[in-house]
Amino acid sequence: MSSSWSQLANLVAAVLFILALKGLSSPKSARNGNLLGAAGALLATVVLFFSGIKLSNLLLIIAAILVGSAIGGISARRVKMTQMPQLVALFNGVGGGAAALISVVEYLEAGAGEPVALAATVFTVVVGSISFSGSIVTFLKLQELMTSRPVIVPAGRFVTILVAAATLVAAVWLVAAPQTWLLVALLVLSLVLGILFVLPVGGADVPIVISLLNAFTGLSVAASGYVLGNVLLIIAGTLVGASGTLLTREMAKAMGRPITATLFGAFNGTTAGGSGTGDPDRPVRSASPNDVAIMLAYAAKVILVPGYGLAVAQAQGTLRELADLLTARGVEVDYAIHPVAGRMPGHMNVLLAEASVPYEQLKEMDEINPEFAMTDVVLVVGANDVVNPAARTDKSAPIYGMPILNVDQAQQVVFLKRSMRPGFAGIENEVLFDPKTTLLFGDAKDSLTKVVAALKAL
Ligand code: NDP
Repeated sequence: MSSSWSQLANLVAAVLFILALKGLSSPKSARNGNLLGAAGALLATVVLFFSGIKLSNLLLIIAAILVGSAIGGISARRVKMTQMPQLVALFNGVGGGAAALISVVEYLEAGAGEPVALAATVFTVVVGSISFSGSIVTFLKLQELMTSRPVIVPAGRFVTILVAAATLVAAVWLVAAPQTWLLVALLVLSLVLGILFVLPVGGADVPIVISLLNAFTGLSVAASGYVLGNVLLIIAGTLVGASGTLLTREMAKAMGRPITATLFGAFNGTTAGGSGTGDPDRPVRSASPNDVAIMLAYAAKVILVPGYGLAVAQAQGTLRELADLLTARGVEVDYAIHPVAGRMPGHMNVLLAEASVPYEQLKEMDEINPEFAMTDVVLVVGANDVVNPAARTDKSAPIYGMPILNVDQAQQVVFLKRSMRPGFAGIENEVLFDPKTTLLFGDAKDSLTKVVAALKAL
């Protein structure tokens, strides 16, 4: 392929990446955005394939494309929606690792090069390796292959500072006096730093760190683009770096935690993820599906609050059926969407879009919060932390400072959950014990199916 054609194709791919990000900014256009991004990546791969490869490596490249596509395709198809964050962590880590390895190979094959290129190589190795090992640890935590709670290494802060300082020294030394053993040492130190960086992070903070590592991968890919002289990698990497940084900020804001509290919280003992304490004998009021159906049917205004349990139960279709039945009876129904309900940004939007819930019925937290005081019944389906008033009042709570949905201001609150177990943050929710609260115990899909049947029979 001639160089002007490949440059034009790269430009088209870059525009597709930008349009993809724009599309992903709204649930309505997200599917198209995703397709545009995939088309951009495909175009970039094809261009590179026909313009830049050594024929001697052809078989290896084809084998790598086939293996990578098979693993990516199968795992993306099989993964459950609730496991998406760990899939993102794994793919992201592999991206960072690949960028680091490419820079190492480039160094070994083409030599150290001029100082700016060498600095870019060093940057890619450090940031890509941190992203790789850190992402693997977050994957293991979220997949529960290791504890998801903060892991405190003895003298952790000191060891981390020491390893970070050694990494910095090795990096500067390598740029000043290039030597292969130093590159290897830098690689190992950066991998260790990635692990030390993520081990003390636990609970709700883990996905924020995934997003941050995602930004790291973007930056390392951009730097590897400089090393390889590939402009498209620089553009794509910068886009990932910028969007990952913005997402990290947004998530930290939605959880009401400064990003420094997330990263260094465990060293200070303030990480999100409580211990699930509480008196198991405290009385609560429970009801039958029939009781709940009657409460809902005779309300003028109902707000549905979906949470992580809705995703676990895969009850989005049944929830929509309930909403439709109530609307047909003349009840005003809205869905209240908390920005961090579920386990990934936009989780509830994706889930409810699957059930074709009209976007107009989804109301963001700031829009719906003033309406709770005028609401007869709030139906909380598998949500807990995002409606826990401890976030407003209890300074010792790991979710303290997180803006919540004000369900406690409604006339009546109904919780659908399986037990008295707490939510992700592991702390008790006082609304469960409020006299105006009713609990319907059971799997959310089961309970909703019964409420729907009871409603139809009224
Ligand atoms: P929570 O984890 O606080 O609560 C989930 C509730 O669902 C629990 O009360 C659980 O109770 C119930 N549940 C689980 N499975 C079922 C089921 N099959 N049927 C019925 N109920 C079920 O979820 P929220 O959505 O309220 O809060 C999200 C939490 O996750 C927040 O702490 C947030 O910070 C954190 N987080 C969010 C991220 C995001 O980007 N969205 C990222 C990372 C963390 P029981 O076991 O008794 O059934």
